[in-house]
Amino acid sequence: MQPRDLSDHVAYQAGRGIEEVARELGRDPAEFIKLASNENPHGPSPAAVEAIRETASSVNAYPKAAHADLTAAIAAEWGVDDSQVWLANGGDGALDYLHRAMLEPDDAVLVPEPGFAYYGMSARFHHGAVETYALERAEDFEQTADSVLEAYDGERVVYLTSPHNPTGTTIDLAEIEHVAEETAEETLVVVDEAYGEFAAVDSALALTQGRDGFDARDDVAILRTFSKAYGLAGVRLGYAVVPEAWGDAYARVNTPFAASELACRAGLAAFDDDEHVERTVETTLESREYMRETIDAHVWPSEGNFVLVAVGDAAAVAEEMQQRGVIVRDCTSFGLPGCIRITCGTDAETERAVETLNAVLADLGLPEDGAAEDPADPNAPEVSDS
Ligand SMILES: *Cc1c(COP(=O)(O)O)cnc(C)c1O
Repeated sequence: MQPRDLSDHVAYQAGRGIEEVARELGRDPAEFIKLASNENPHGPSPAAVEAIRETASSVNAYPKAAHADLTAAIAAEWGVDDSQVWLANGGDGALDYLHRAMLEPDDAVLVPEPGFAYYGMSARFHHGAVETYALERAEDFEQTADSVLEAYDGERVVYLTSPHNPTGTTIDLAEIEHVAEETAEETLVVVDEAYGEFAAVDSALALTQGRDGFDARDDVAILRTFSKAYGLAGVRLGYAVVPEAWGDAYARVNTPFAASELACRAGLAAFDDDEHVERTVETTLESREYMRETIDAHVWPSEGNFVLVAVGDAAAVAEEMQQRGVIVRDCTSFGLPGCIRITCGTDAETERAVETLNAVLADLGLPEDGAAEDPADPNAPEVSDS
């Protein structure tokens, strides 16, 4: 027998891990640093580590109370009803739930290109079609309502990523409101704020709640994750915050016990540990600034915990950096074969990454004033990582 026709589906390509790379190259893992998956360089919140330890002996039970407690804590923090918080197995799991709730077969979603691959993957699992709008390199990947609306053709869900992965740009709340206003009543605008903690922009939840001078809307949802600022990528925990009008759909679409006991307890502890998040954000801002100032190639301004760098030949540069012990993300699979993405690390990691990159650029030949054109690669597979 065979599975259903999966020819339109592509495998998710995660950033490469230290163990994996070290084994492949026959080297000691201690020689490497990994700045390829936008993970937290300070690790998880110590409070979350403690919570996971304490919870270990009770994982025989289904996570009912923990799930409710975390939902309530998040709802209280955002000032929304518990029903509006859709906990999930990572932000990716929350995307699945939104699609389960929204998509009829052959409904379409509109996603940014370049962009995060899982929007399209998940839509296809749910028998949806995938259309794209372009973020133009010539315009520094600027995000405006017009660029989205030009491509919009009645899709059921429109994705905005703010800050955007892998470019680091954001979109103003007024522009988001314009998108929501100009799209059909039955079109949901999902604002993916996976990197929201690192950005100097407000959450689009203001539109859902009708705060800050915006009218309350029932067609804007936000996505958040514990994988980045909270350092819990390994436990898989994220959520959507949706409008109150249809928050109750969660009960009918979620996989029972959508987040594990360990994830919920870790999440509760991490959510309370402001100090860890503040330290993480502070490190990120310093690292971002340092990379922009010291890398000998064009570095786009970024509001995320990473920067996008124009290096000319991303595959060659990423490969050579890896040989020298620094694992970064080759953005060819995002449709940007001229760029690498470097996650903001600790001071020492960031310095080593910059030193290594500059040496590699010098050895391989610098891109002309850092602005080398992407070689056109229409066949680049549509895959990316977190
Ligand atoms: C990391 C990321 C997510 C969510 O990742 P999870 O680990 O599944 O929570 C969502 N969107 C973007 C753009 C991301 O980079």
